[in-house]
Amino acid sequence: IITFDGVCKSFAVPGGEQLQVLDDISFTVGDSEFVAILGPSGSGKSTLLNILSGLQKPTSGLLDAPSPEEIGFVFQRARLLPWRTVQENLEITRAARSQNRRVPFQQQTSEYLAAAGLSDYGDFYPAALSGGMQQRVSIARALATEPAMLLMDEPFSALDEMTARTQRLFLRDLWLERRSTIVFVTHNVMEAISLATSVIVLSARPGRVLDHITIDAEHPRSLTDPAVEAAYE
Ligand code: ATP
Ligand code: MG
Repeated sequence: IITFDGVCKSFAVPGGEQLQVLDDISFTVGDSEFVAILGPSGSGKSTLLNILSGLQKPTSGLLDAPSPEEIGFVFQRARLLPWRTVQENLEITRAARSQNRRVPFQQQTSEYLAAAGLSDYGDFYPAALSGGMQQRVSIARALATEPAMLLMDEPFSALDEMTARTQRLFLRDLWLERRSTIVFVTHNVMEAISLATSVIVLSARPGRVLDHITIDAEHPRSLTDPAVEAAYE
């Protein structure tokens, strides 16, 4: 479903020089994989997601990925429309996607709210919800577009550890149920190895692929696995 072949990215910086951010990135992600991109700050993780989603173009190299209409994006901060209710936030984003779709939507937006544990909050405005709930709305909104691929840029890093744990479990359950392709970026090692079926490790800038580790596609480690639990203590 995704192939990167020798993708490089540089940015022009003041002084007329080029800052190389991604260097010769190659990897393949199959259908239904849950992939973590793990790397230190500045290694180009967000840039990689932007290229994957078509928001930015590589400087060189080739890639094959689903079209932007087939992608759901969860940003580091929820980015909800503050003047629209939770339900409207889902409806508006979905309506914007409906023109380019080949297949009709299978589930109502209310079902995505229910799955995120937000059935009672459809008529609330985002400001009336906690940060963790807003993040859940943001995930529900991305899922309600029924994307072929879900991209998430450090979706839990702005949350407190208790809320982040609940959110990780929610995401894991969702993936176990749906098996949609998920690519998520994190600099949290435990988060990567406990959630993902494979982990792509990037070096410090310029980001290169240091390793591409398979966790266990059929039996990913459970977040309630005692060893993983212990690591969170
Ligand atoms: P973090 O973990 O802090 O979010 P990251 O791995 O997501 O970091 P990126 O945001 O992809 O890293 O940025 C990688 C490098 O590219 C940084 O040094 C950043 O300053 C630079 N960079 C990103 N976007 C641009 C841009 N549009 N113009 C110039 N430089 C950029
Ligand atoms: Mg980033």
